[in-house]
Amino acid sequence: MINTFDVIVVGGGPGGSTTAAFLAEKYGKKVLLLEKEQFPRDKPCGDAISGKSMGVLTELGIKTDIESTNPIKTHGVVLSSPKGVVLDIPFKSKDPNRHSYGYVCKRFIYDNILFQHTKGLKNVTTIEKFQVNDLLYDGTQIVGVIGKNLDSGKEMQFTAKVVVGADGANGFVAGKLGVGGFDDNHRVISIRAYYDGVKGMKPAIEIHFVKSLIPGYFWIFPLNDHEANVGVGMIASDMKKLKMNLQKEMLEIITNHHVFKERFKDAKLVSDIKGWNLPLGSKIRKCAGNGYVLVGDAASLIDPFSGEGIGNAMYSGRLAAQIINKAFEKNNFTITTLAEYETTLREELTPELKTSYYLQKLGQNQLLLNWVIEKAATKESVREILSGMLANTKAKKGLVNPLFYLKLLLS
Ligand SMILES: Cc1cc2nc3c(=O)[nH]c(=O)nc-3n(C[C@H](O)[C@H](O)[C@H](O)COP(=O)(O)OP(=O)(O)OC[C@H]3O[C@@H](n4cnc5c(N)ncnc54)[C@H](O)[C@@H]3O)c2cc1C
Repeated sequence: MINTFDVIVVGGGPGGSTTAAFLAEKYGKKVLLLEKEQFPRDKPCGDAISGKSMGVLTELGIKTDIESTNPIKTHGVVLSSPKGVVLDIPFKSKDPNRHSYGYVCKRFIYDNILFQHTKGLKNVTTIEKFQVNDLLYDGTQIVGVIGKNLDSGKEMQFTAKVVVGADGANGFVAGKLGVGGFDDNHRVISIRAYYDGVKGMKPAIEIHFVKSLIPGYFWIFPLNDHEANVGVGMIASDMKKLKMNLQKEMLEIITNHHVFKERFKDAKLVSDIKGWNLPLGSKIRKCAGNGYVLVGDAASLIDPFSGEGIGNAMYSGRLAAQIINKAFEKNNFTITTLAEYETTLREELTPELKTSYYLQKLGQNQLLLNWVIEKAATKESVREILSGMLANTKAKKGLVNPLFYLKLLLS
C-alpha cells in the first residue's frame, strides 16, 4: 500500500467525509480517509438534519440519495414551556444558504450515505477499523499519522502534507495537539434513545422545556409516524451542580409526566440509551496550525442553543478543503497559509454561535421561557417573528436584543 498522500483525514463522520470528498472531487487531491469503525455505524445524535447540511449535500450531489431513504421532512419546531404551553413554529427561511425545511434521518443511514459516496471517489483511499493513535512530526510540522489496524493489530504509518482532525468530540488529534479536553460550561452531555409507538407526532422537531429538567431539555424527533428519536441534554456544569441523572430524568418524564406518559403509553424502547459529549462552539478551540486543521466536533463547533453540529461539521469540512487546496497552490503547509481556515471559520460562524450562546443562557430562565412561549402561543404576530428568527441566522440576533422583549411586553 502507498504510504504517502496529499492529505490524511482522521475520522469518517460528516466532517471528515465532507472534507475528503471536496478535496478529492473538487480539488483533485489524493486523500487517505482513516476511520476506526466499520460503516455503517451508529452515532448518538438527535438525527435532525438542518437546512445548513442540506446545502452541502446538494453540492456533493447526494441530497437525493438521502431523500430516497424517505426521511421525515420537518417543517417546523414545537416548543413547550415549563408551564406546559405548547407552541408550533413553522420554519420560514429567507436565508439563501438554508432550506426552509429539515430532515430527521438516523445517523446510521445518513453518515453511511455520505461515507460511501466519499469512499467511492477516485482519489480517495479509505481504511476502516483503523485507529489513529499518534502524529508524526518534522520539527513543529505535522507530517503524518501512526495507527493500528483493529482487525490485524498491525501498526502502520502514513505521511501527507496536511492532516485533518475530524475525529469527533472525544477525538485523539485535538488532544494530542494540546487543544482538546472539555470546559464543562461549554459542553452539553446528552443521551439518546429510539422509541417505537410514540403517539401524536407531526413532521416537526419537538423541544420541551420540562420543569423537572430545567436548565436541560427533552426532545422528541419523529423518524416516521410511529418511531422517534428521544433524548435529553444539559450543560455539563449544571448537570454536575444539580447531581442530575439524565437517564433517570428522561425515563421519569416518559413514564410519569402528565402529557408525555399518554404519548408513550404504548411505546417501546427499541435501542440502547446512549450518551455522548457535545463540544459547544461558545468555546474557541485553536483549529489550524503547521500541517493540520480540525473540523466538526474536533474543532468544537456545535451550536450552543440548538445542539446542531452536523451542519457546522460539513460546512467546516468544505471550507477546510478550500483552504488546504490554497496551501497546495502556494506549496506552503504551515500556519502561514492554513490560518486562513481558522480566520474564515470565525468570521463566518462566530456571530451565529455568539447569538446561540446568549439564547442558551436565556433559555435557562424558566420565567422568561414561560412568558415568551405563552405570548407567542396566543399571538400570531409574535409567532411570525419567532418563525423568521429561528430559521434565519441573521434575524436570530433579534432574539437577544432587549428591544424584542420590550416589543413583546407591549404587544
Ligand atoms: C445526543 C446527541 C444529540 C445530537 N443531536 C444533533 C442533531 O439532532 N442535529 C445535529 O446537527 N447535531 C446533533 N448532535 C451533534 C452531532 O452529532 C455532531 O456535531 C456531529 O456528529 C459532528 O460530526 P463530526 O464528523 O465532527 O464527528 P463524528 O460524527 O463524531 O465523527 C467522528 C468519526 O471519527 C472516528 N474516529 C474517532 N476517533 C478516531 C481515531 N482515533 N482514528 C480514526 N477514526 C476515529 C469516529 O469513529 C467517527 O466516525 C448531537 C450530538 C449528541 C451527542
